Amino acid sequence: MTLTNWAGNITFGAARVHRPGTLEELRSVVAASDRVRALGSAHSFSPVADTTDDLVSVAGLPARVDVSADRSTATVAAGMRYGEVAVALQAQGLALHNLGSLPHISVAGAVATGTHGSGPTLGSLSTAVVGLDLVTATGAMLRLDRTDLRFPGAVVGLGALGVVTAVTLAVQPTYDVAQTVYQDLPVRRLATDLDEILAAGYSVSLFTTWSRDVVDQIWVKRRTDDPRAALDPGWLDTHAATGPLHPVPGMSPASCTEQLGVPGPWHERLPHFRLDHTPSSGAELQTEYLVPRRHAVAALDAVQAMAPRVAAVLQVSELRTVAADDLWLSPAYEQDSLAVHFTWVDDAAAVAPVVAELEQRLAPLGPRPHWGKVFTMPPAAVQPLYPRLADVAALRRELDPNDVFGNAMVDEYLGSAGT
Ligand SMILES: Cc1cc2nc3c(=O)[nH]c(=O)nc-3n(C[C@H](O)[C@H](O)[C@H](O)COP(=O)(O)OP(=O)(O)OC[C@H]3O[C@@H](n4cnc5c(N)ncnc54)[C@H](O)[C@@H]3O)c2cc1C
Repeated sequence: MTLTNWAGNITFGAARVHRPGTLEELRSVVAASDRVRALGSAHSFSPVADTTDDLVSVAGLPARVDVSADRSTATVAAGMRYGEVAVALQAQGLALHNLGSLPHISVAGAVATGTHGSGPTLGSLSTAVVGLDLVTATGAMLRLDRTDLRFPGAVVGLGALGVVTAVTLAVQPTYDVAQTVYQDLPVRRLATDLDEILAAGYSVSLFTTWSRDVVDQIWVKRRTDDPRAALDPGWLDTHAATGPLHPVPGMSPASCTEQLGVPGPWHERLPHFRLDHTPSSGAELQTEYLVPRRHAVAALDAVQAMAPRVAAVLQVSELRTVAADDLWLSPAYEQDSLAVHFTWVDDAAAVAPVVAELEQRLAPLGPRPHWGKVFTMPPAAVQPLYPRLADVAALRRELDPNDVFGNAMVDEYLGSAGT
């Protein structure tokens, strides 16, 4: 049977696919394999999860959301989806600091690529991780936490250090969020008011098609305990939407989370899409670059300069913020970032030259591509953007001396782990 990723642009080359139901079974699969990769919910658009040998999903391991006695952390099964974890936390009066746009993505898979939501003070989802349990190449278990110097190298691990079975996440008391969409921000405002726009809520996303002289939509997600006054009705020459909207112009908002300023629990507002709806058919490709916040306006100018070519193959673009972190392979490593995202039409041949031109224009700004999305930057352009690569290599040699967890993409960008 052919196994593909969610979008269908990657056909996995695995000779064998495993879905163990117990930890012991998983450990046996790993110990018996010369080359094995973990697969999450297969939402990545890049071949980051691919392998030619054994592919193993941890989705069959028992679900668990174990809250610590002091209610500051929750240990969850690695294969669970963020939406499921969020519902279980909310039932116990708890919350995560942030979520990505889609709640259907597995925790371990999202964490492994540095998946993020938005918010100028909010780190990626990986920054909530305070502990990891993983099966290493021999089938042995390893627990890593913040007290271990190797931990920052293991969280955004691209699946290259072992198969994660449980993730311990920092949690906090639950909170409510109200989401309002503002329309038609004049493009000139991006140059003069970008910081104010991006800080207008707890989490802010801008959606644009680069085809008009306005940014189509700004999704402002405000915590209801935010002491700041509500935004003025004509805030920055925008107007508040009078009905629910989908980020892609013309698409039905039925799959989108509640808008119009109606307050509700964090997990039903922070993602753009509802857990109980399929957001789209997968007929799309995605690309995203994290650029240093200090270069945000220059990055937007670079896209604007090729707007007609971008718009010709685009469904929608999203702009978000990600706070700096200390995770060695995180695209937000040690820099507050603007994440410039593109949801393309499902036509790889038409999209490829546009992606290449984008990368060329953004290159002077040091764009770090999202590991889970489509990019064409060669290793020689990506590697200098990650100052801890030598430490990553040493960690891989220590934990995986026979390069059991490598694959073509990881070996190309990080080098082979073998000694
Ligand atoms: C519709 C859509 C919306 C998206 N929205 C966002 C968004 O808002 N923000 C954002 O940053 N990204 C977003 N993405 C990208 C997505 O979050 C990442 O590609 C993410 O890594 C996918 O998680 P997954 O569980 O599908 O992992 P997979 O694609 O299955 O795997 C990704 C990586 O994780 C590794 N991995 C998976 N499970 C384990 C495990 N148990 N142990 C060790 N390694 C493991 C794999 O080996 C691989 O290297 C979106 C993607 C789609 C399709």
